[in-house]
Amino acid sequence: MTEQSPSPSDVGSMYDQFSDLFTASLGDNIHLGFWPGDQDTAPLSEAADRLTDLVADRLTAAPGTEVLDVGCGNGLPTLRIAARRRVHVEGVTVSARQLRTALARPESGPGVGRAAFQLADAMALPFADGRFAGAYAIESIVHMSDRAKAVAEIARVLSPGATLVTSDFYLDGDLTPREAEILDAARRPFLLPRFPRADEYPRHMAAAGFDLIEFDDVTANIRRSHRLIADTLRQAVRRFDLTAELRTQVEASAELTERIGTLTQLRYALITARRM
Ligand code: SAH
Repeated sequence: MTEQSPSPSDVGSMYDQFSDLFTASLGDNIHLGFWPGDQDTAPLSEAADRLTDLVADRLTAAPGTEVLDVGCGNGLPTLRIAARRRVHVEGVTVSARQLRTALARPESGPGVGRAAFQLADAMALPFADGRFAGAYAIESIVHMSDRAKAVAEIARVLSPGATLVTSDFYLDGDLTPREAEILDAARRPFLLPRFPRADEYPRHMAAAGFDLIEFDDVTANIRRSHRLIADTLRQAVRRFDLTAELRTQVEASAELTERIGTLTQLRYALITARRM
């Protein structure tokens, strides 16, 4: 059976609709957390900031230069990276709701350590060739129907030598029919097309003129996120005035989120590449 990929506007509407719920459960980072070891007991919000910092530290953009945030969410990671690297970050999102939240941050605006935001589709970026000294995409390319096009667009707007860092899911190994069913059911409400295989991002990067610097599988470090996200979603849903249907849907998504956290084939990597 063929499956229609979600359009950028479908993805934007999904984030518009669930923005409050995500914020109530995840805080303003819409991504997983990173724990260096089993002894570490940091809460999800702190662990999610850590993942942002791991992305920031892989960039090579010099202070004062411009960096692109592909799929910037509510702008929290954007501003954290702008401050940490002392760069100016341009964030793009397909959600009008996220854009409003990001623009309301006091640190938005021109200048080093600050960020600007706009609505734009990463598969057709509204920026001139070679403009940026770096780019990153935290759990955003996974949403895109044409991931090769998104990577090629990012390559186009980067200057030679600039670094791209992606932080995202991928699949490695075969799934049983039951596992495939669970994974399909889990990704549909979040409008995720099929997950890429291990070689997909590196292939798109090579085709777009990137040199692969590092493929860092951090699955063991993010594993705890799924259960914590499921728990916080369940708690948040009780505080919201949702229709019975929506409540059931979110509770089912929480359950599936927890279950996919146990699938060893669903993996997560920080990929660093340099524009040639
Ligand atoms: N990077 C942010 C948000 C992750 S959620 C964070 O870590 O908090 C996924 C993000 O990808 C959302 O902001 C969504 O708007 C964005 N996104 C999905 N498809 C997109 C597309 N085609 N173009 C631009 N952004 C997209």
